[in-house]
Amino acid sequence: MVEVQPEQTTQYKNTAQMFQNIPAESKSDDALPKGVVLDKDGKPCRTCSSLSSWRALTKQADKKNATNTSTTATPALAAAATPSPSELPSDCPPDVEQLGRSTWTLLHSMAATYPEKASTEHQSNMEGFLKFFSKLYPCWVCADDFQAWMAHPSGRNQPKLGSRKEFGWWMCEAHNEVNRKLGKKEFDCRFWEERWRSGWKDGRCD
Ligand SMILES: Cc1cc2nc3c(=O)[nH]c(=O)nc-3n(C[C@H](O)[C@H](O)[C@H](O)COP(=O)(O)OP(=O)(O)OC[C@H]3O[C@@H](n4cnc5c(N)ncnc54)[C@H](O)[C@@H]3O)c2cc1C
Repeated sequence: MVEVQPEQTTQYKNTAQMFQNIPAESKSDDALPKGVVLDKDGKPCRTCSSLSSWRALTKQADKKNATNTSTTATPALAAAATPSPSELPSDCPPDVEQLGRSTWTLLHSMAATYPEKASTEHQSNMEGFLKFFSKLYPCWVCADDFQAWMAHPSGRNQPKLGSRKEFGWWMCEAHNEVNRKLGKKEFDCRFWEERWRSGWKDGRCD
């Protein structure tokens, strides 16, 4: 049994146990709840998976640990039996959605504060940022797809960095590409600046 600090949440405790107790051969796709994405090292990737998949996984690990250790009423099992709120507490590691929302906020805000006319140096800094960002994004499946989209052989998806308008529109298109992939509604890019820079014309952001 892994020793757990009192301040750690139940979910983190389960995750720690899961990583240490589940043998590698049982970490195949078959054994995992639907929607759990594995990291490149074969372990479940929290920042690549949704909260609901992650919770299914921690419950599965809980049951497995209870069976293996003949434990009865642990706090983790009690928590697993209680319906979970749909949102994580704000001080827990992010799932793929929370990470995504926070990242889009950063990316669109970078576009919103981009120079109206960007110098060559500014363009090259942003180009470098996007290149590394697309390699280092903590959800590797997201990163791989994003890189592939940017590298479309036609060159049509390369970052447009000449001006704020171009870059903001490009970022909106990039985000819409992910929206389409996930079956979400596309955003009307004519409004990207109201959403991320000036606030809506009805004044609700002022
Ligand atoms: C580079 C990248 C790749 C990703 N790839 C994946 C993936 O492969 N699989 C996966 O499950 N998740 C992925 N995500 C996360 C995913 O895009 C969402 O962030 C997540 O699903 C949460 O979605 P949401 O509906 O809360 O809103 P989000 O899509 O996070 O959007 C946040 C807010 O941005 C605004 N918005 C929406 N679309 C646009 C747009 N086109 N332009 C400007 N503003 C917009 C809306 O106001 C919205 O509420 C990725 C995130 C990033 C940053």
